[in-house]
This record gives sequence, structure tokens and C-alpha cells, in this order.
Amino acid sequence: MARLTKIVILAVSVGILAVLWRDTFDSEILSGAHVLLTGASKGIGEQMAYHYARFGSELVITARNKTLLKQVEEKCLRLGARKVHSISADMSDPKSGNQVVQFALEKLGSLNYLVLNHIGYDPFQMWDGNAEHTSWLMQVNFLSYVQLTSAALPSLIETKGSIIVVSSLCGKVAIPYAATYSASKSALEGFFTSLRHELAIQKREVSVTLCILGLIDTESAMEKMRARGLVTVSPHPAAEAALGIIRGGAIRAKEIYSPWWVEGIVRTRDWFTGLQDMIIHRYFQPKDGQ
Ligand code: NAP
Repeated sequence: MARLTKIVILAVSVGILAVLWRDTFDSEILSGAHVLLTGASKGIGEQMAYHYARFGSELVITARNKTLLKQVEEKCLRLGARKVHSISADMSDPKSGNQVVQFALEKLGSLNYLVLNHIGYDPFQMWDGNAEHTSWLMQVNFLSYVQLTSAALPSLIETKGSIIVVSSLCGKVAIPYAATYSASKSALEGFFTSLRHELAIQKREVSVTLCILGLIDTESAMEKMRARGLVTVSPHPAAEAALGIIRGGAIRAKEIYSPWWVEGIVRTRDWFTGLQDMIIHRYFQPKDGQ
């Protein structure tokens, strides 16, 4: 091949990659945006609330703990949020989703972003046959996401808004001690991918962003790793993961990965399944037979 042809091919390839990877995020889009954010009293949700506040969004935040929510609300106002309201709600109650969305619509008038982030407590231990807990966790981690979406969708259709679903690598590659958690995250993937297709077929301009997270340094996640005596390979900071989620939603990405290497695991998960099983079994050796 002539030298010139090679140079042209290289230049075109670099150009295509630059276009594909260019950063299209413009924080202006979030200024004044109406955001309903769940699980905002701590962890990644709390960090997301602060980022939205800095971008000048109008927020309704929810979780169960009223005191923590009030503290997050006050900090959001100090950081520049145009409006912040909080509502305490337990997502194990199937009526909560609708109540929270009605509250948000009353306070904000409409919704541009529905950010689904909360999770219920799961002990990170081998499944003990407790189907009642499985059913409870599926309500909190999965069904409540559907209930919130059902109530928010008419407003999101009107505003051509976005649904952001915080999921996990466990929804793509299941691990031990998290059978129900992994099931709830896989369910989110199936439901929201199908919904994305249906919205596209109906020419409804509502985007659906699935956020696939690896280990993030929130207190609840780190506590579980410590209790199991697992060595953690530098967990990703919650504030960075939170920003990645917000950017992904704002640019209407289908999926985002945080940290970046999670995408590599997802893309190659079916290549060496035997090796993958071996690594998982070694890493998650039971402690005291549990
Ligand atoms: P977290 O720190 O435990 O926070 C969970 C949030 O959900 C809190 O605001 C909590 O507040 C709320 N919540 C708990 N039970 C609830 C209930 N019954 N009803 C309503 N709200 C409830 O969790 P996180 O580590 O930030 O995780 C956030 C998201 O990231 C989750 O979807 C999780 O699956 C995903 N993720 C996290 C990691 C990680 O390593 N941290 C990894 C992968 C994916 P209250 O207790 O006040 O209700």
C-alpha cells in the first residue's frame, strides 16, 4: 500500500475516533432543569444532588431519613440549586413511587430528569432461602423504579426528558453473596432496555441511560466488603461516579460505565467464562463457611 494511502487511512480513523469520543456535555443544559432524584440522603445519590445543585438545577430529592435529607437540601441550596424540596418515602411501599412523583410535579411543575438510584438493604451473604426478603428487595430495587417511571412518564414525554437508571456490574456479571441484588439489577436492564426500544418505536423522545457501576467508595458498599474481609482494589470515588452518571444522562447516552474499565469486563464477559468463574470463586472464598 502506498505510504500516502496509509497516512490517509490513519488520519480518517483518528478523525472518526475523535468524533465518537468527543465530549458533548454542556452543563448549561442542567441549569434550571427539573430533577427528581431518589436515594439522595447519602452515597452516590447525595453526591449527585450536589452536582445538580452546582449546575443550578431545580431538585426534588427523596430517601427515608428526613434528617439526612434536610441536611442535603440545605447544602444543595448553598451550592447554587435554584430550588430544592425533599420528601421522605419508603420504596418498599408500592404506593410511594406515585406519591413522590406527584409531590415533585406539584413543586416543580414538570420533570426533565428522573434519576433512579436508591437500593434497599441486602446483607451480602449467601442466599439463605429467604424468598420474603427477595420479594421485598425486588420491590425496592426494581418494582419501585417501574412505579416511579409509570407516574413520571407523561411529564417526561412532554418535556422530551430523560430517565437515568443506576445499575451495577452485578446486573451484567452476577457475583456470589448478591443473588437478589444481581437479579434486581438484571431486571432493570431488561425492563429499561425494552422500554427504550418502545419509546423509540413510538417516536417518543425520552432517553433512557443505564449506568453500570463497579465498586464505588460509599460507606455502605465499603462496610460490606470489610465485613466479608475482601481486599478492595481502589474503589472509585462516589463524587466522580455521580458526575459520570449526570453527564451520561445529559448527553442521552444509552449506557455509561464507571469506572471506565467496567466497560472492558462487560464487553468481554462471554469470552472466557471458565476463567471468569475461577477468578470469582477464588476472590469470593467464604469466610467462616458463610
Ligand atoms: P447507599 O449509600 O447505601 O445509599 C442508598 C440510598 O437509598 C440512600 O439514600 C438510602 O437512604 C436510600 N434507601 C435505602 N432504602 C430505601 C428504601 N427502602 N426506600 C427508599 N430509599 C431507600 O448506596 P450507594 O452505594 O450510594 O448506591 C447507589 C446506587 O449505586 C445503587 O443503585 C447501587 O446499586 C449502585 N451501585 C453502587 C455501587 C457501590 O459500590 N457503591 C456499585 C454498583 C452499583 P435512606 O436509608 O435514608 O432511605
